[in-house]
Amino acid sequence: MIKNAEKLNSRIWLSAPHMSGYEDEFIKKAFESNWIAPLGPNLEGFEKDIETFLGHQSQVVALNSGTAAIHLALVLLNIGKGDEVICQTKTFVASVNPVTYVGATPVFVDSESETWNMSPELLEKAIKDRLKKGKKPKAIIIINLYGMPYHVDRIQELSEQYQIPVIEDSAEALGSKYKGKPCGTFGDLSILSFNGNKIITTSGGGALISKSEQIKDKAIFLATQAKNPGVEYSHSETGYNYRMSNILAGIGRGQMKVLEDYVELRRRNFDYYFDALKDINEIIFLKEPINYYSNRWLTCVLLETNKMRNDLLKLLSDNNIEARPSWKPMHQQELFKSFPKYLNGQADKLYERGLCLPSGSSLTKDDLLKITTLIKSYFE
Ligand SMILES: *Cc1c(COP(=O)(O)O)cnc(C)c1O
Repeated sequence: MIKNAEKLNSRIWLSAPHMSGYEDEFIKKAFESNWIAPLGPNLEGFEKDIETFLGHQSQVVALNSGTAAIHLALVLLNIGKGDEVICQTKTFVASVNPVTYVGATPVFVDSESETWNMSPELLEKAIKDRLKKGKKPKAIIIINLYGMPYHVDRIQELSEQYQIPVIEDSAEALGSKYKGKPCGTFGDLSILSFNGNKIITTSGGGALISKSEQIKDKAIFLATQAKNPGVEYSHSETGYNYRMSNILAGIGRGQMKVLEDYVELRRRNFDYYFDALKDINEIIFLKEPINYYSNRWLTCVLLETNKMRNDLLKLLSDNNIEARPSWKPMHQQELFKSFPKYLNGQADKLYERGLCLPSGSSLTKDDLLKITTLIKSYFE
């Protein structure tokens, strides 16, 4: 038993939860006041903290996952059976699963090479083609992958030109900015995740962000079983049990106190990897374009070949270091293989050659030295 525990602790993880110590006081208050359930002051406090952080009239509803937030976003946009939703193929499956919950069809669009997010050219091509086939897409779900903002202005133009709302999946990008404005404020609706591996965590959780109090109220109504006003249990719409608990929101309040420090630490990881490995021509780093500020949630590098990527994965794993291949694109998934797709090869390339390096805010200089020394040894 003890041996196993030691092993668990000595492993270098991809993106481990990082408690600050501030969480305890909020959780303790919840216990002392018996606000274990139902909703309570930590929940409101956590939502206020995020609203203050994001600014720009953001209205935040804390939920029990980022996936739930995407599901509610689709419900709020009245998307249902037979509708089509454009999705970035280069993402984690949680971005797309809710599309099938509501009975809609995902239409996959590939990425560009500058940010690894949805290509505006290909998006326009996809919209035109769907229109020609007689189906206007009902929404665009776009990602800020690994913390890097997408081409916000160009996507916004297309959204306005074709009148298709954007759902911004900012699960990986809390703390990132585009032209100085925070990610999580760009979509008609945006979502965040506080899952265990994200930049801050409530152990599990998410949030839905809108621009109006009315939408916020409607989201809270739907997230709490859509109970009509009054003491009778009276319902006229399908509801969900998606609200975050007051205990978990307490963890979130503690984490919000250190969010900006954690962004700095994740960016420090990226800089460390870049400085240590920049002379190895077989490793390509994703640079920040002008006006982009990434929280560098994960440092993901592109290797010259698939073999190099796989060799490095094995080398790191043999040394008790957790690295991962870059997300397998959705159009390649058995689950989604029959759905329409608009491809340019970018997502496939990133999947074959992309390597996510340990990136947690609690990594030490010794950890980073150990990882980069191993990688350098492979190329010597
Ligand atoms: C983590 C993640 C989600 C899902 O969030 P959960 O809180 O785990 O449900 C959605 N989209 C992306 C891109 C993610 O990385």
